Amino acid sequence: MKTTRREFVKTIGAGAIGAGLARGLLKAQAPAVSSGRPYDVVVVGAGVFGSWVAYRLQEAGRRVALIDAYGPGNARASSGGQTRVIRMGYGDQEIYTRWSMRSLELWKGLVGPVGRPSLFQEAGVLWMARGEDPLTTKTLATLQRLNIVHERLGRAELDRRWPQIDFGPNTWAIHEPDSGFLVAFHAVQAVVQMAEASGVEYLQEAVVPPEGKGRLGAITTRSGKTIAAEKFVFACGPWLPKVFPDLLGDRIFPTRQEVFYFGIPPGDSRFRSPAMPAWVDFAEEIYGIPDFKGRGFKVAPDRHGPAFDPDTGSRVITAETLATVRDFVGRRFPALKDAPLVGSEVCQYENTSNGDFLIDQHPERGNVWLVGGGSGHGFKHGPALGEYVAARILEGGAVEPRFSLATKQKVQKRSVY
Ligand SMILES: Cc1cc2nc3c(=O)[nH]c(=O)nc-3n(C[C@H](O)[C@H](O)[C@H](O)COP(=O)(O)OP(=O)(O)OC[C@H]3O[C@@H](n4cnc5c(N)ncnc54)[C@H](O)[C@@H]3O)c2cc1C
Repeated sequence: MKTTRREFVKTIGAGAIGAGLARGLLKAQAPAVSSGRPYDVVVVGAGVFGSWVAYRLQEAGRRVALIDAYGPGNARASSGGQTRVIRMGYGDQEIYTRWSMRSLELWKGLVGPVGRPSLFQEAGVLWMARGEDPLTTKTLATLQRLNIVHERLGRAELDRRWPQIDFGPNTWAIHEPDSGFLVAFHAVQAVVQMAEASGVEYLQEAVVPPEGKGRLGAITTRSGKTIAAEKFVFACGPWLPKVFPDLLGDRIFPTRQEVFYFGIPPGDSRFRSPAMPAWVDFAEEIYGIPDFKGRGFKVAPDRHGPAFDPDTGSRVITAETLATVRDFVGRRFPALKDAPLVGSEVCQYENTSNGDFLIDQHPERGNVWLVGGGSGHGFKHGPALGEYVAARILEGGAVEPRFSLATKQKVQKRSVY
């Protein structure tokens, strides 16, 4: 299925160029409308994964279009939350620790829009543990092996440093002082701005799921445009099962995840950075991020919720989860026991069977790449994933088995946290 030059010119034209010019960002690039050539790569999905992939490909000299149905970091996207933790600790899953290290370096180099706060907040991350907890013990060994700055803190030291936390049954913790959190949806928008400045053409369009088999010549949009390219990357996050229902309908599991923001007491700095790090209470499957810019102290269960539709699912929190979270907050952060709820988000994880990402070619369409399966921990890795995917597309070479489609099972058995 090849798009004619006439169709291509008719369909791609003003939207892409108009959007770029409006921001004054598209400069020396040869516009698609005058060249009539298909793009080298079209990336569908401007979440954290797609936007970094598009940027890397363009930087490598390819002509790239980036398309999103709702906009970069939109409220339905998995990348659309206020903040995301970036930590180095990943048990013995060293590849993710290495990707976190590389990503942190790149996130730090990303400049936010003028007047906005830095997109990375070096608040530190505190991973609480109990007894011989195997994951935390393995994390400690990995951090030591890779020379990552960290501290192993016993209970007495925890109580001394963070008296505003009641550590309960937690007996020790790992503190990563150089880690922290990312200002998530602003960061995605900044990546897309950076990508546009380097020549990527961004279009806000909904792509129709491609049908058939064999090489894909072009995609169509709901508004009737046809966009041709040599290669396509589908980085559609929790929408991947909808875009490729036969292939991924039972291999990516979008789950409903609720996030709560509690108001801190007036004038109280104990729940903000630097007094409060981002934290994880692994045994209770719950984590949080300090109050940032007065938006509230974030607390969120990490346990997978029920199945969720990213287009139509309700974004209103449930009384049941709120009660569970309140109970936890009252125990772990006693001063916030009766803190008012000042905000909430309902987002979705896009889980693979075990939590490993999906990065692979479509088995029946060699020029189509599938990128996703962030599984509740993908945000931080956007920069490293972008480099990895761009290198596989441009240079070839097999993907790590753990990222392949073949390793994605149809049952959920989480092993990557
Ligand atoms: C509540 C919550 C907390 C999390 N906490 C953390 C954390 O602390 N640290 C961390 O590292 N990670 C965290 N994650 C995980 C991380 O946010 C995700 O793994 C990551 O954002 C996934 O990015 P993505 O680009 O794959 O998907 P998305 O961000 O969902 O992007 C996909 C994009 O594709 C677009 N799209 C879909 N279909 C189409 C179509 N047909 N046509 C055009 N566009 C389309 C969508 O509009 C969307 O913008 C969390 C996730 C959630 C939900």
